[in-house]
Amino acid sequence: MVGGGQAASAVATKRVDVIVVGAGFAGMYAVYKFRELGKSVVGIEAGGDVGGVWYWNRYPGARCDLMSVDYSYGFSPEIEQEWTWSEQFAAQPEILAYANFVADRLDLRKHFRFGTRVTKAAWDEAAKVWRAETDRGEMLEAPYCVMATGPLSVAKDPDIEGISRFKGTLLRAQKWPHEPVSFEGKRVGVIGTGSTGIQIVQTVGRQAGELFVFQRTPSFTLPMRNHELEPDYVAEMKRHYRAMREAMRNNPTGGTRPATSRPYFSLPPAQRRQAMEHAWINGGHTFLGSFADLLVNQEANDQVADFVREKIGEIVRDPKTAEALKPRGYPIFARRPCLDTEYYETYNLPNVHLVDLKEDPIVEITEKGVRTQAGETELDVLIFATGYDALTGALLAFDVIGRDGITLKDKWRDGPRSYLGFMMQGFPNLFAPSGPNGPAALANLITVAEHDVDWIADMIGYMEANGHRSAEPTAEAEAQWMRLVASLAEKSLIRKANTWWVGANVKGKPQGLTMFIGGFHKYREQCEAAARARASNFVFDRAKASAAA
Ligand SMILES: Cc1cc2nc3c(=O)[nH]c(=O)nc-3n(C[C@H](O)[C@H](O)[C@H](O)COP(=O)(O)OP(=O)(O)OC[C@H]3O[C@@H](n4cnc5c(N)ncnc54)[C@H](O)[C@@H]3O)c2cc1C
Repeated sequence: MVGGGQAASAVATKRVDVIVVGAGFAGMYAVYKFRELGKSVVGIEAGGDVGGVWYWNRYPGARCDLMSVDYSYGFSPEIEQEWTWSEQFAAQPEILAYANFVADRLDLRKHFRFGTRVTKAAWDEAAKVWRAETDRGEMLEAPYCVMATGPLSVAKDPDIEGISRFKGTLLRAQKWPHEPVSFEGKRVGVIGTGSTGIQIVQTVGRQAGELFVFQRTPSFTLPMRNHELEPDYVAEMKRHYRAMREAMRNNPTGGTRPATSRPYFSLPPAQRRQAMEHAWINGGHTFLGSFADLLVNQEANDQVADFVREKIGEIVRDPKTAEALKPRGYPIFARRPCLDTEYYETYNLPNVHLVDLKEDPIVEITEKGVRTQAGETELDVLIFATGYDALTGALLAFDVIGRDGITLKDKWRDGPRSYLGFMMQGFPNLFAPSGPNGPAALANLITVAEHDVDWIADMIGYMEANGHRSAEPTAEAEAQWMRLVASLAEKSLIRKANTWWVGANVKGKPQGLTMFIGGFHKYREQCEAAARARASNFVFDRAKASAAA
C-alpha cells in the first residue's frame, strides 16, 4: 500500500464515487456527466470559480481562435438553443460568461470546492480507491479520479535574471488581475510573442503610451477576420447544431473547418497563389483547410511560409521591423498557428517598438525595466506572455502515486506515456481527459474533452456492469499506443520547431512530439476500437487476475 492510506487516518476522509480535479470545460462536463449517471462527485478547483483557462487568462485581447460554434459544448441541445454567441471568434469575457451560464444552468457549482488545490493523489490497491489531499487539509477518497487539470494551466515565467527586482507592475497573462488595468500614458513591455503575446500587443499597442515588444522568436500569424454574428446566421446555426456536431465528430480538428485531401502541388502555380490569397482574405485557419499536405511536405510548407512573409513585408512599413517580424528557420504551422486582428499593422503605430532579441538579447530585468545588450528600457508595466509548462505540467506539479508506489513523475521521466491519452498502466481508475498523448492541443479541446469524458463514463459503466473494481491498460496496449503516436509524429513537420508542442519551452523537459497527430476523427475511431477490445487492452482487478493466473 502507498502513502495515501496512512495519511487517511490523520484527517476525516470524505468518500465519494468520483473525484474530479479542475473546473475548466473538461472538469465541468465530467462533474455533470457523473452526476447524471447517479454518482456522487466532488470537484476540486484551485481557481475561484469555473472556466479553467478562461477564468485565469483575462489579459487584454484574450480570445479563442476557434469559431464560437465549434468551441462550445455539444452535449446539451438545450444549452445550444439558450446560449447565443455574439462573434465568430469569442473573446474571453464571453467564453467565461458561457462557462458561468453552463454552471448555473446545470447547477454545477455546488459540487465544486473552489480555491482548493489537490496536493497529492495516491492509489490504495487494497481498498481500490484514490485518496486526494488538498491544500486545505481535506482528504477525499473515491474509486475513480478524473484529472481534468488542463493542458495549459501551469504558467511559465521566462528564464531571465532579476524578475523579482522589478519595481513596476509585473503582470502575467495567465494570472491576470480581475480588476481593469489601465495602460494609458504608460511605458509597457511585453515579453513573449506566441498567440497570447500577439493578442496583447495588438490590443495594448493601441492603449499604451509606449509599447516595447521583446521578441525572441516571431510567430506566423494569420488574419482572424473576426466579425459579429448576424441574427439570421445564429438562427440557422441553432437549427443545424445536431448536423454540425456530427460533422465535428468526423473532422480531423474536432471542429467545422472543412478538411481537404488536395495536395499543394496538385494545383498549377497561379491557382495555388489564388488559393493562398483566398485563404488570407477569408481569414482564420483557411490555409490549413486549403491544402492537405502543409505539415508533411516541406516544399509546400516553404511556399506558404514565403507567401505569409511577403504579406508581412507589405503590411509593416519599416523594412527592418518587417524583416524582424518574419519568422524563419521553422515550418509554418509547426508552431501553434496564431490568428490576429491587425497585429502587424500595430507596428506601424509610432508608439510601438519591436526589440529584436536575436540582435539585442535581454541581459536582465532591473528595478526599472528590461536591460538588453544595447541598454535599459525603462517600463511602468512589464507583461509576461511566456506560455506554459504545457500538456504535462499540471499533472507533474503534485504527487500522483499509482500502484506499487510508482509516481507519475517517474513514469513520465522520459516524456508522457499513456494509453489513448487518458489512462496509464500502473495508475488504475485514473483518467486524464485531453491528456498529452491524445489529440490535445491539435484539436478543438472542448470536443476532445467531451469525447474523453464520455469514453471514461462508458468504461466505468462497463466495469460496474461486470463487477470490476479496477482497470488499467496493459503494458502492451500502452506500448502500442505510444508506437502509433511516435510513428505518426515521425511524418510531421511539427517536430522541426522548438515549441511547447514538443516541450522545448521548458528547460530540462523531455522533448518530443507526444500528441496524437492523426486527427480527432481517427483518434475517436481508435478509442472506439479500444473499447470493443477491452478484455485484451485492459487488466481488470489486477490482484484477482494475478491470483487466478
Ligand atoms: C489563452 C488561451 C486560449 C486558448 N484558445 C484555445 C482555442 O482557441 N481552441 C482550443 O481548442 N483550445 C484553446 N486553448 C486551450 C485550452 O486549454 C482548452 O481549450 C480548454 O479550455 C482546456 O480545458 P480543460 O478543462 O481541459 O483545462 P483548463 O481550462 O486548463 O482547466 C483546468 C483547471 O484545473 C485546475 N487545476 C489544475 N491543477 C489543479 C490542482 N492540482 N488542484 C486543483 N485544481 C487544479 C486549474 O486551475 C484549471 O482551472 C486556449 C488556452 C489558452 C490559455
